[in-house]
Amino acid sequence: MKHGITVQARAIYRAAFSGDELPKGWKVSFVDRCVSSRRQRFGSSRKINHSPARRWGQCWYSRKTIEVLSPSVHPGHEGHGGWICTLIHEFIHQRCPRLRHGQEFDRLIDAALVRVWAS
Ligand SMILES: [Zn+2]
Repeated sequence: MKHGITVQARAIYRAAFSGDELPKGWKVSFVDRCVSSRRQRFGSSRKINHSPARRWGQCWYSRKTIEVLSPSVHPGHEGHGGWICTLIHEFIHQRCPRLRHGQEFDRLIDAALVRVWAS
């Protein structure tokens, strides 16, 4: 089951990236599960795939869709909201398709989160 959160996600995107807009055509949805079987359905998609333990969000370039595990089932959803961290993580994939996980990736996430919490 999916729940659209694109409007809320757009506001978070603007806060995270100093007023930048989530590009036209992109959608953000909550999903109850981020499962690898989706990979078959969208086999030709260019897609960031996380290790099972970290599969809390997915960024689908071909469908311009970001999926984030619903807050109710998202790990670490207390306090500032783990799902927002996951959303920002996927936003970085959206903005930097070639950037791999690592120090620079984490630095961009941290900087974005600081701006979100300050907003
Ligand atoms: Zn990732």
